[in-house]
Amino acid sequence: MEEMDYENRMMSAEYLPEDDGDNPLRPRTLAEYIGQEKVKSNLSVFIDAAKLRGEPLDHVLLYGPPGLGKTTLSAIIATELGVNFRITSGPALERPGDLAALLTNLEQGDVLFIDEIHRLPRTVEEILYPAMEDFAIDIINGKGQGAASIHLPLPKFTLIGATTRAGQLSAPLRDRFGVVCRLEMYTPEELAKIVRRSADILQIPCDHDGSLEIASRSRGTPRIANRLLKRVRDFAQIMNNGVITDEAARAALDRMEVDELGLDMVDRRMLQAMIRHYNGGPVGLDTLAAMIGEESVTIEDVYEPYLMQLGFIGRTPRGRVVLPAAYAHLGIPTPGEADRNQQLTLDV
Ligand code: ADP
Repeated sequence: MEEMDYENRMMSAEYLPEDDGDNPLRPRTLAEYIGQEKVKSNLSVFIDAAKLRGEPLDHVLLYGPPGLGKTTLSAIIATELGVNFRITSGPALERPGDLAALLTNLEQGDVLFIDEIHRLPRTVEEILYPAMEDFAIDIINGKGQGAASIHLPLPKFTLIGATTRAGQLSAPLRDRFGVVCRLEMYTPEELAKIVRRSADILQIPCDHDGSLEIASRSRGTPRIANRLLKRVRDFAQIMNNGVITDEAARAALDRMEVDELGLDMVDRRMLQAMIRHYNGGPVGLDTLAAMIGEESVTIEDVYEPYLMQLGFIGRTPRGRVVLPAAYAHLGIPTPGEADRNQQLTLDV
């Protein structure tokens, strides 16, 4: 099977180097943060209550696919609380000492954000338990017989953990979060608001229908919406005096082979390969990964959520299957239809 090129995939919800300039686009306050209404209204109550009591906010776990605004929301929580925001990630904390150094440098009330918290090494996770529960850590000093354990109190802080896979968190870690929020994919209307806000900040002329066209092809994901906005701007500058209308957006996105549902070449080729070579499945995750040259976890975290949301693929115990909606979208008859058509031809 031909190798597919997945490097720097434009429609990936994962962070890419080209997103680096996104800082000015990040909302700074809850009021600026668009969508996720339920999560926002709950959080604002907890934030206000914590401030009233003069206590740190309970530990918060945010989960959901990449690019939905977990990091952004965490920084906003710190801003709303009026405290420092310290940022790290599960894979960056290799040894217990890495986490201990961060924890002992916190100030009272600070927010410590751990991205990809499901990837914390076990030994580091074990330090986190007493830190979260009792605001203290025990450090072993020295080796062998002379080793002594030092009990170190910590300032009261708020841990915010973000993860794409809440299911992979160990129960003792999950149980230590007082607030657990799931971020949902955004509606096209919400994404259109995000596109218009970003267009204003970047001073890109973009009308209502243009923003909606970009939004509806952004896979429910703000990170992708912002990325498409910048790409469409380039096309609009050459083709439409710089103004993003629905026509300009459609032309640009068609040229980039992003279809009206936000599927790109990779999605379509993956679905087509599943249909052609595996009769629509079930195809095991590892086979799928080999097929598109990605790791299994990337398929599960990044590619699958949107295809499942669309009802294009389903999970079975034996692997992934292509569902009828995907056949319809690709214009390929389902195996049942193909048989029937064959039958009809024979009958004639
Ligand atoms: P995650 O941490 O879930 O991967 P980020 O917080 O990095 O996602 O968000 C990705 C980008 O999307 C950010 O640069 C931000 O500009 C934008 N974004 C995310 N959520 C929102 C939102 N609710 N409103 C406006 N922009 C958003």
